[in-house]
Formats: sequence, C-alpha cells, structure tokens
Amino acid sequence: MAVSVKSAREIELMRTAGKYLAELHERMGEALKPGMSTWEIDHMGDEIIRSYGCTPNFLHYNGFPASICVSVNEEVVHGIPKKGRILKEGDVVSLDCGLIYKGYHSDAARTHIIGDAPQEVRDLVERTKQSFFEAIKKAVDGGHLYDISNAVDDYISQFGYGIVRDLVGHGIGKKLHEDPQIPNFAQKKRGLRLCAGMTLAIEPMINLGRGDVDWLDDNWTVVSSDGSVSAHYENTIVITKDGEPEILTL
Ligand code: MG
Ligand code: MG
Repeated sequence: MAVSVKSAREIELMRTAGKYLAELHERMGEALKPGMSTWEIDHMGDEIIRSYGCTPNFLHYNGFPASICVSVNEEVVHGIPKKGRILKEGDVVSLDCGLIYKGYHSDAARTHIIGDAPQEVRDLVERTKQSFFEAIKKAVDGGHLYDISNAVDDYISQFGYGIVRDLVGHGIGKKLHEDPQIPNFAQKKRGLRLCAGMTLAIEPMINLGRGDVDWLDDNWTVVSSDGSVSAHYENTIVITKDGEPEILTL
C-alpha cells in the first residue's frame, strides 16, 4: 500500500479544489426543492463546476454517466440522476460530488432533507454527519488509520444503525481514489501510521436499518437491502503537524 504524502504546493492546490467544492455544495443545497428532478441537480452542479474552471471528476469515472451522484431515500450512494425522478417533501437526498482543480481532486458528500421528515430520519442525518467529526479527531499525525474506522463505529453503534461495510473512504489527490481504503466499521488491527500531509476522504454511509446493501440493475445505484433510509457525509481532509486535521471541503 503506497500512501502519498502531499507537498505544501499540492496541499495548496487541494485547498483550492476543496474551497470550490464546498461552495458547490452550499449552492446545490440551497437550490433543492420539491418538484426538482435529480437530473436538474446534476445539470446545475455540472455547470457550477465548469464555471469555476474545474472538471467534474465523477463524469465518465468507470463509465458513470453524470457529474453528481444523487441518491434518494433508500439509495445509499452512486444514484444516477434522472429526468423522471422528482423530489418531493420528506425525501432524503444525498449529493456526492467532486471536482478536479489543476490536476488535484476533491470529494465531498452531504445529505439533505426536502422540507420536513420524521425525527428518526433527522437524527440519522445529523448523527451520520457527527460520526465524521468524531472520526477526524483520530486523523492526527502519529495516529493510526483504523482509529478513524473505530471512531465511526463506536459513535454510530450506540444508535443501532447499520453501517455500510461494502463501501469505504479513501486516500485522494492526483487520483480520486488512492490508497488507503478507510472502512467505517471497527477493525482488529491499528492499521497504517498516519502522518502530516496525507489527504483522505472520510465518508460514513449509515442506514436507519441494517447495513447490508445491494446494487441495482444499472450497476451503479447502491441501495439498502432492507429498504431503509440511508445518509452519507464526506469531506476531504489533510492531516496536519499538530492537532485536528484541516477540512478542505468545508
Ligand atoms: Mg464522494
Ligand atoms: Mg469518496
């Protein structure tokens, strides 16, 4: 496993990539409303990314047909935008997107609720986000990779949610997916020693029911096997010399 450590110059480029992605998420989140199709979300996101002079990194990635992954309700990740998929009140919409700035990638995901939803759904979304913030407390110079995994598991398990195990976080930089893989569930070993300059995309995917998932016939869309609602939260971070990491996509 070769995990790259980025130079100050590379981190600066990833910081800019992350700043654009944070802004993109903010603008898309504000635009979401009932009656909008998931295709419109993708179209809007693609235009914004290109307006920054950046390239969407999901488009054509292994053949993915869109720039933004839009996953609704029981869809966990990799939902393909469609003109016929119209958002309605109470939908839980995960937007996962990334972009390339001067050869460097950023990757982040947010889950939004359209209008209102039952308390248990709002809790799921909030706690999924919080699990990311618990995890990054362990993303420190001299720490170990699987302390991140264990932190997500420790925090989420108290609520009885299902942690998705078939998909994981990852290193990121010149490529969208670099080593190491970062599971969101407890590991027996401590894993790789972390050091300043490592750039990671940490992304808990949490189901209200069980953590098992299936792939739909489109070979992309991942859904919870039990049909329960799913939430996703992700940021690209860089491990720093001292203290907590810098979140590049906030
Ligand atoms: Mg992502
Ligand atoms: Mg990712």
